[in-house]
Amino acid sequence: MENIRNKVIIITGASSGIGEATAKFLAQNGAKVVLAARREERLHAIVDEIKQGGGDAFSVKADVVSAEEMQNLAKFTLNTYGRIDVLINNAGIMPNSKLYELRVEEWDQMIDVNIKGVLYGIAAVLPAMREQQSGHIINLSSTAGYHVDARSAVYSATKFAVRAISEGLRLEESLTSHIRSTLIAPGLTKTELLDHITSPEGQTIARQVKGMGISPYSIATAIAFSINEPDDTLVSEIMVRPTVL
Ligand code: NDP
Repeated sequence: MENIRNKVIIITGASSGIGEATAKFLAQNGAKVVLAARREERLHAIVDEIKQGGGDAFSVKADVVSAEEMQNLAKFTLNTYGRIDVLINNAGIMPNSKLYELRVEEWDQMIDVNIKGVLYGIAAVLPAMREQQSGHIINLSSTAGYHVDARSAVYSATKFAVRAISEGLRLEESLTSHIRSTLIAPGLTKTELLDHITSPEGQTIARQVKGMGISPYSIATAIAFSINEPDDTLVSEIMVRPTVL
């Protein structure tokens, strides 16, 4: 994975699941990784593990719903490494429920984290990437970004939005710069994502499907593939899902 070596890569939502697996995998392949999330202790433990394995890693506490904290994350990375090669907009939440349950606060949270968080990430790194005339922004959508289930109306809406944002970014930047835009769409993956569902019906379903997902490393390797391709080659979209569900 020669085109990953020495790249400076920011990963949001790196304190668990897909973000954690991706940070570890990229560091093993020689990337300099900056891990961001809200749970600092978990970030510190992951960074320690990466460093013990000979990797290069830092962590920054950042809530993706704060444009200011995302700017600080980018500034820290630029001050530390002098450039930002890749941003992986991975942080996301999925407290699914049916619309009639009126869990309006959770709708707001999903819109804030899954859509605004992605936009604030782009806003934080795009100026530096345009100045460098190179960069790569990878956004996590979902199979739920292509179809809607009962209970996933709001989550799916946010992941459809992430697809629109990724495609818009790709079209804009392909005209004027060398910034790559990649969309990663996982299917069910074994992480903590289902643990935050509060709807009783949703929790029952989550219990039934928990354990059926694929390993977060299967998503990490897809992300790594998109980074490792030559800089003139854009992997614009990858879907990775369980073989049997
Ligand atoms: P996890 O719950 O394991 O990880 C989510 C990560 O997002 C955590 O590190 C969490 O860190 C972070 N996060 C949540 N809210 C915020 C916030 N406000 N600010 C900063 N970080 C935040 O789930 P996954 O690893 O599964 O999720 C990663 C991505 O993959 C998400 O975008 C999800 O939608 C997507 N996905 C997952 C699938 C699955 O089946 N697991 C399927 C399809 C897509 P902390 O709480 O420390 O801030």
